[in-house]
Amino acid sequence: MARYTGPSCRLCRRERQKLYLKGERCYTDKCAIDRRGYPPGQHGQGRKKASNYAMQLREKQKTKRYYGLLESQFRKTFERAAKLEGITGENLLRLLELRLDNVVYRLGFAASRKEARQLVRHGHFLVNGKKVNIPSYTVSVGDQIKVKEKSFSSPKFKDIREGGPTVPKWLEANFENLEGRVVSLPSREDIDIPIAEHLIVELYSR
Ligand code: SF4
Repeated sequence: MARYTGPSCRLCRRERQKLYLKGERCYTDKCAIDRRGYPPGQHGQGRKKASNYAMQLREKQKTKRYYGLLESQFRKTFERAAKLEGITGENLLRLLELRLDNVVYRLGFAASRKEARQLVRHGHFLVNGKKVNIPSYTVSVGDQIKVKEKSFSSPKFKDIREGGPTVPKWLEANFENLEGRVVSLPSREDIDIPIAEHLIVELYSR
């Protein structure tokens, strides 16, 4: 599947904020946003006030980059969200949060969404006992996400068994058994990413 392979920090600089694409490095003073928090390129420091369209576009690009999607994948997710009952912007964020790669990241089994996607692709995870290697797979309430037993000895997962991070309240994790569960659908308040989703809806409604 196609994916962005260029420099991650450049994306954060373009959006002028941390998108946490590189795991631990994002929390150190090596973070490019802390060092050069302006857009890359010749005109990076001299851009004028953004138009409405530019603000809508940036919000969409930022969200896409947070979750590591390309344009066509993001557009399809938006179309799915628009068909669901409720507020389209919130539906969109919920669908993005329920992607398997995001859930693996939120459960603390990967340091970034990029790493989570790679681990899922390499077949390290079971959903309800069955191997799923599709990062975009949408999990449902009650689903159990577990690291395959064969992967328990991998250095990647060894440290996590001793204790992982705090997980959002719509998930629960058992680090010793390297498993997690979706206990409810994430509400808008549960999604702590600074996104003005109405701008994305406005952009796609043009
Ligand atoms: Fe973004 Fe992380 Fe790079 Fe900082 S270190 S610019 S948060 S990807």
